[in-house]
Amino acid sequence: MKYLFKNALVVTMNEGLDVLESCHVLVESDRIKAMGSSLSPELTEGAQIIDAEGKLLMPGLINGHSHVPMTLLRNFADDMNLQTWLFDHIFPAEGKLTGEDVHWGTQLGIMEMLATGTTCFIDMYFFMDDIARAAELSGIRAQLSRGMTGQDKGPDFSENKSLNESIEFYKKWNGAAGGRITGAFAPHAIYTCSPEYIEAIRDAAEKYEAPIHVHLDETKVEHEDSLKNFGKTPARHLYDLGVFDRKTVAAHCVWVTGEDLELLKEKGVSMVHNPTSNLKLASGVAPVPAAMADGVNVLLGTDGASSNNNLNMFEEINRAALIHKGTTLNPLLISAAESLKMATVNGAKALGREDLGIVKAGGKADLILLDLDKPHFMPLHNPISALAYSAEGSDVCLTMVDGRILYENGEFKTIDKEKVYYSIRKICERIF
Ligand SMILES: [Zn+2]
Repeated sequence: MKYLFKNALVVTMNEGLDVLESCHVLVESDRIKAMGSSLSPELTEGAQIIDAEGKLLMPGLINGHSHVPMTLLRNFADDMNLQTWLFDHIFPAEGKLTGEDVHWGTQLGIMEMLATGTTCFIDMYFFMDDIARAAELSGIRAQLSRGMTGQDKGPDFSENKSLNESIEFYKKWNGAAGGRITGAFAPHAIYTCSPEYIEAIRDAAEKYEAPIHVHLDETKVEHEDSLKNFGKTPARHLYDLGVFDRKTVAAHCVWVTGEDLELLKEKGVSMVHNPTSNLKLASGVAPVPAAMADGVNVLLGTDGASSNNNLNMFEEINRAALIHKGTTLNPLLISAAESLKMATVNGAKALGREDLGIVKAGGKADLILLDLDKPHFMPLHNPISALAYSAEGSDVCLTMVDGRILYENGEFKTIDKEKVYYSIRKICERIF
């Protein structure tokens, strides 16, 4: 398909953070073919026109850390500490889930993400085939991995069920759906995986040249237990186990020290800031300003919907731009632009992609359109500030991935909303 967005206000998220008024953006197949204030008729011939007058076009948001099917557990166990929440409520409920349940929960999560401007998510969960199937059908972009937990000491992990599942999943899905779906290996965390198991996972990731997705130093308990059990911080523990030798996305990093940040920087580990989840579970506030000052790539994520309790990245952008001002007493930290970068270009960098998270000719057509005809966008002195401080996820009126419109004005093009809602109700009747 060929689309022409006409007269959009374009927030490019390029190096210069250029904002272009009355800009036309031509999409052909899965990429942005051309953009500018005037495009030749020969170039745009045959394109379907999308009138973007009074609308803002920007790169689709990248959710850096999620467990999408946890939409099923939304608002189920709230207002408790992470260990109680996870071990006494979430893990037992998850034990009752089937692959089919996870498939429907994923579709619900993808609906929510598309409707609030997310075009790509980095996810770790189980029943990954069912998640990948939902991602494939929906048209969204995703990096997926099976979260692995285990206290085995080895030395032989060849019969290990979840490791073998991970390997099979990676072989089957990495590069699938025209490259929209990629894979990773995911040791869940240092408190749910023995060092030997983490090493086995690292070896598998190395063999398949796969990236890693891991939870890191999320809580004070995790940090202190690591010092007690291993005599080192969680980041140093993973560093010493060679995990960071693979391209790694580390979620949370709330309790990382200054020395840990040096390790992340040295190995090019991307750190995912999950402000809402960290606030809700009272895990703390990640040292994002220090990480950014050290040159660590920081992206943004929602975490699962049961610790958030939504998958709306505009809320994360807003919170990331606010909480560090409050905790550091410095209103210069974090700027609106920095927060928006975390949700776009920095996410793309974590995935090793230069063609995502930015509106540019040749880039992937993963784009969203926001309706500016809202009181909270008036007056529009600074579009970047407006996106960080005034925008709502519900301002998104069109979401495109790989040049395909997946959501437009409340309508999902690839997902049967009624069928998803019906299935979710049935699942909840059975489980809760
Ligand atoms: Zn998580």
